[in-house]
Amino acid sequence: MDIFCKIIKGESPCYKIYEDDDVLAFLDISQKYFGHTLVVPKKHFANTLDCDDEILKKVILATKKIAKHYVDDCGVSGVNILNNNGKEAGQMVEHLHYHIIPQGKECKGKEKMDFVEQQKILKLN
Ligand code: AMP
Repeated sequence: MDIFCKIIKGESPCYKIYEDDDVLAFLDISQKYFGHTLVVPKKHFANTLDCDDEILKKVILATKKIAKHYVDDCGVSGVNILNNNGKEAGQMVEHLHYHIIPQGKECKGKEKMDFVEQQKILKLN
């Protein structure tokens, strides 16, 4: 079982940002960027190419909702939305995920901020 399936099952911890019936979003563990967030379907799909269209729509709409929340409500200037498909394309975890990376001068120097503090600033529900 991959690490994101374990997080979804509650068998591994995460700093949750958003959850609905089909989607979970949580902070990326790498701490390279402030607010680096991963958006994943609760049902396992390896990547975008493998994903059921209805679920993919839900994941993308949740990604948009979270990214818009960061810009509209959390004082972030812009966001990168990224998705890797396959090992050769840099995908390390074989469970579909979209990266949201907040950008702007307000994010600089906050990369190592405590996860609980980041969660307080960015949490959507
Ligand atoms: P990718 O290269 O697109 O597959 O990205 C996988 C991401 O998952 C990386 O940015 C990792 O830092 C992140 N990651 C791996 N394990 C965990 C975990 N347990 N909790 C949160 N993020 C994780």
